[in-house]
Amino acid sequence: MELVLAKSQDALVLTSISKRAFDSDIEVGGTKVGGPPGYQSHKYHIKMAAQKHLYTFYNNGLIVGGAILFKDGTKLYIGRIFIAPEHFRKGLGTKLMELIENLYPDVTSFTLDTPLWNIRTNNFYQKLGYEIEKKDKEFAYYIKCNKLEQKSWKETFPKSYRPEITDLEKFMEPNIYCLFRNLAEYILQEFDLRFGIPVWTEKQGWTYRIGKAGVYLITGIRIEKNRFVLDDMEVASIEQSCLLIEYVKQIYRNNKDDFYARIAEKNKRQSERCAKRIAREKKELEELYSKIVPERFNVFCWPAKLDIHKLNKLYLQDAKGIQDEILADEIGLTLYLRCKYGKEDMERMERNIIRCHGCGTELAGERDFRQCCCGLQYSYKEYRRSYRKNNMPTGAAEKTFTMFMQKWDRAKTYQEKIVLIDTLLHEFHLSLVSGATHRPVAMNFIDGSRSRVEQIISDLARNT
Ligand SMILES: [Zn+2]
Repeated sequence: MELVLAKSQDALVLTSISKRAFDSDIEVGGTKVGGPPGYQSHKYHIKMAAQKHLYTFYNNGLIVGGAILFKDGTKLYIGRIFIAPEHFRKGLGTKLMELIENLYPDVTSFTLDTPLWNIRTNNFYQKLGYEIEKKDKEFAYYIKCNKLEQKSWKETFPKSYRPEITDLEKFMEPNIYCLFRNLAEYILQEFDLRFGIPVWTEKQGWTYRIGKAGVYLITGIRIEKNRFVLDDMEVASIEQSCLLIEYVKQIYRNNKDDFYARIAEKNKRQSERCAKRIAREKKELEELYSKIVPERFNVFCWPAKLDIHKLNKLYLQDAKGIQDEILADEIGLTLYLRCKYGKEDMERMERNIIRCHGCGTELAGERDFRQCCCGLQYSYKEYRRSYRKNNMPTGAAEKTFTMFMQKWDRAKTYQEKIVLIDTLLHEFHLSLVSGATHRPVAMNFIDGSRSRVEQIISDLARNT
């Protein structure tokens, strides 16, 4: 037997079962044929399936029933269940409810409602341990709490799971949690004290402390479902809570001076540590400044961009039948170097490495300041900034760059070279006209204002 989320194609069968199941209620006290809203509507079941509320109940591979479930945090509302009438009295209903309860281990309570007149369902749910929470004229509202809630504090929150304040609310009975919160509010207002994060002890599990600024006045507050305990005082009622507040007042009065002395001591140590750190950082900065040689610091020299006039000239001459091989080489090489260093430098920076622009040495390290053996110096952050500012080509069109680089290495004739330059320009043009909002790739390669670059690329694309 299994219960699984219904597929939309299950909806038809489930609608038919739902209709027959609820219509059969007339035999057990129903005044007229009927059922809950949508019980005979195919559309309703399709909707429930789409919203993942509808479940299909299989027995030996056969669909024998279904359920509509609504999960809200740790609560599960069982909207309805239904079994095909021909499968009644085989224990399938009980089995279905079991499957539902096991479906979500984190659910702490199950609720459902059923018409008062339906003796069959009312008996059924009570037999399964559901208790009536309330009744109105037509319905009985049932609730059943999951076994999980019966677990102890230590079982619920083992060492590996430090409880949050919201967990406390879920774990404790509401009235106990209320007393606990009142205490928290009282000590905050009255003494400016608060509950710290809990500490783990092998004996008690997570226990709570009261104090402030990391200094604690009261420790070892234990939590249980139906009470909390400080020293030997347990709190499960308002009266006990008042006694505890008196007790806390007493502790506060008796230990106040010592407590504030400890806080002052701690603050002093902290500010000393802080002052030391500031002094250390200042020294580091001074050392750094003493090392810097301004004319050698952050001297960036990225591979040049292409001069658009040269590009224009190449195309004009080509149109006239003049094959300027030197110019083609110069342009190709410029594009090639931009591609190569754009790609490689980005890969380096991903590993926190920069390339010296003077000698090509790779400069690694954790610190921002990088000193090269050739005498040049860099700030890693400034290096990155400069890379971006210079529009070095990055990943956006990596395939195109890689292909261009590989083919340029092998290109021999003027014709091969001009074809390659052309292909790259074509890519630039595509990125211009694609309507992408980011900066066109061409800007990474060609010198000039954006509008000028766009115009040249468009013109060239038209002429070739
Ligand atoms: Zn160097």
